[in-house]
Amino acid sequence: MATSQSNPKPIDPKGLTACPECDLLIQKTTPKSGVKGLCPRCKCMLFHTKKDSVERTLILSLAGLILFLPAMVLPIMTLNAMGIERTSNILQGITTLFQDDFHLVAILVLLTTVIVPFLKLLLLFYVSISVRFKVNLGNPALAFRSYKRLDEWGMLEVYMLGILVSITKLTDLAQVSYDIGLFCFVFLLIITLFSSVTLDKQQYWSLIGRNVSTKNG
Ligand SMILES: [Zn+2]
Repeated sequence: MATSQSNPKPIDPKGLTACPECDLLIQKTTPKSGVKGLCPRCKCMLFHTKKDSVERTLILSLAGLILFLPAMVLPIMTLNAMGIERTSNILQGITTLFQDDFHLVAILVLLTTVIVPFLKLLLLFYVSISVRFKVNLGNPALAFRSYKRLDEWGMLEVYMLGILVSITKLTDLAQVSYDIGLFCFVFLLIITLFSSVTLDKQQYWSLIGRNVSTKNG
């Protein structure tokens, strides 16, 4: 695709794309970070890459992976009712659901709150490392496709909503205090949301494609 800079390279017929507005054939290029691409004829915006998408997504996914274990195992809240104190973390909550015969709910919570969010961060970290440092280990294209498929299944925000509702209801019955696990979970949720915002899918695909051509070439 065309950028604001002129492209002196000869035209490769395989690497052409058409402007969606005026159908002008334009040579595809690997878009640089934070760049707008305009059609040279009609000035329609062809792409607008996010600034430092790979670096920001890499740091956020790494921070999410570091924060994941504390968010799952540290106590979220302490309940104090008639002198009896009880703390609970996310994994204990899932175990309790299993013990109380809510097997399907327990499996759903395990999938949407633990397994999928962790896999998403891991895949995003792996793909970001691959494209940032041009490492050709494994299959980043497959990993990125899997990440996009899993995107709809991670529901940390729904679980967060559940925690907030529980806290509101429990305050009538017992004394509730927040613990460090809740803050880790909130940070994990924010990091996961921001990693989706900083991720520039078009730029990632373009960089994955460039790595594959370098590998094959
Ligand atoms: Zn055009």
